[in-house]
Amino acid sequence: MIRINRFNFKQITEQHLNYFEKFFEDKLITVICKAELKNHKNFLEYLFSKKVTLLTGTPRELEFIRNELYNRYKNILVEVENITLTEVLRKSIIKQNLRTSADNEEPKEIENVSPIQKLRAYLEYIFDYDHFVRGTKGWGAYHLVKQLKVEVCPYCNRHYTSTLDCPIGKTRPQLDHFYSQEKYPYFALSLFNLVPSCYVCNSNLKRNNEFSYNTHLHPYDEEGEFSDRVRFSVNFPKQNLQTDEKKERQRDYLSAWLGNSDDFKISLLPVKLRDPLTSVEERRDYAKFLIRARNNCKVFKLRELYQNHKDYVQDIIINAIVYSESEIQNLLDAFPDLFVERKDVLRMITSNYISKEELDKRVLAKLTRDIWQEFGLKIE
Ligand SMILES: [Zn+2]
Repeated sequence: MIRINRFNFKQITEQHLNYFEKFFEDKLITVICKAELKNHKNFLEYLFSKKVTLLTGTPRELEFIRNELYNRYKNILVEVENITLTEVLRKSIIKQNLRTSADNEEPKEIENVSPIQKLRAYLEYIFDYDHFVRGTKGWGAYHLVKQLKVEVCPYCNRHYTSTLDCPIGKTRPQLDHFYSQEKYPYFALSLFNLVPSCYVCNSNLKRNNEFSYNTHLHPYDEEGEFSDRVRFSVNFPKQNLQTDEKKERQRDYLSAWLGNSDDFKISLLPVKLRDPLTSVEERRDYAKFLIRARNNCKVFKLRELYQNHKDYVQDIIINAIVYSESEIQNLLDAFPDLFVERKDVLRMITSNYISKEELDKRVLAKLTRDIWQEFGLKIE
């Protein structure tokens, strides 16, 4: 889990809001007038009162709205969640009930549509994600990912998610709805509910798993990354901790280097805290973080998938043996034109971006940072 943090969030937020607020407002007003039941009307009016936050609220703010909605309108939400409309029915409901004067085509008569089916159709009409994907008139999915420039999937840090948009071809990262569209149709257009991610994480692994701020780490949140609290590590099976541990580990590293190679595991575990947590709040927050981190690992199969990178880890082990601290200093002294500072040498020997802020620049950067650190490299 790597955090998505961008200097241009403010500008992107403004663009998203400018583009959608007007549509959104007009559609919501129309739908509020058409709502058949008083509590449906109240529910839609509540959404109207939160329109700016719904579109551009932070993950924490969206979670707040979700909780408030469940406190006030639980019955409606439970019903809305359990309804799936066919495309035909949704379109028919919208045509029949919200037909504009510009739309000359007579709607097909549909019978026995319940108020809750109508509400579901209205929500999908207001929070129209397909419209965002089509990206007409200067704002949409491609515009968003081009500005965010998320080059590596924040969930796995294993796949590139580059964007290409030119006459010869197009591709972009998938946009995962952190809060699913099925369960939370009113978050379908929320900017910080759209997580650029790879196909494997979004379509193969997350699929219908329900995420929320309290159960999973959110890549747009400052608490949404593993950081140094959860790290990759190398575990050798025959490590005998009764003997001189350091010596034993050194021998095992070398045997891995020499090609006894698959006989280790890559683990991903919480790091033992150096300073004990003193306050109740700190302990509670840390416990929550661990639960969320564990859930992310489980859904995205991080422990299992990272076992496929043992060869890469072996290369790190070799390099960690070759490039000792004195060797790094030698390189710095010998090539002043190539390396301005120590960090430049580290970039070269690790072939990756290993500072905390740059882990989203290249695949496997988190793995690289953690394993090099484990083998003694001082990074920060
Ligand atoms: Zn991924």
